[in-house]
Amino acid sequence: MSEASETLFSKIVRREIPADIVYEDELAIAFRDINAQAPVHILVIPKKPIPKLSDAEPDDGALLGHLLLTVQRVAAQEGLTRGYRTVINTGEDGGQTVHHLHLHILGGRAMKWPPG
Ligand code: 5GP
Repeated sequence: MSEASETLFSKIVRREIPADIVYEDELAIAFRDINAQAPVHILVIPKKPIPKLSDAEPDDGALLGHLLLTVQRVAAQEGLTRGYRTVINTGEDGGQTVHHLHLHILGGRAMKWPPG
């Protein structure tokens, strides 16, 4: 079993722990972050347990594109017409705490730059 297949996000995919799921298809699932940092804070993850972006392989290209299009779809569904921020934290210095690739969608307020 790979590192990511044992994370709590895989348990959300398998419905073993509850989550507020806002979108799902055969490749991806999106659910609200339990510790929201903005009025809208959603995580988009692949069902395939890729631990982090740097572990993705060339064959994952279509899946990675699908995740970005899922971000676009979910943001539209949430009515984020003024824009939103998309974040992928990778590894220790990236601030990644859950080792299953995920794309944050943050919206509903103006974001600041640079991030901390
Ligand atoms: P990271 O820091 O790895 O980029 O982001 C992990 C995110 O997962 C954090 O924003 C954190 O609040 C969220 N998170 C951690 N545990 C859970 C959980 O059990 N359910 C949900 N919905 N989000 C979680």
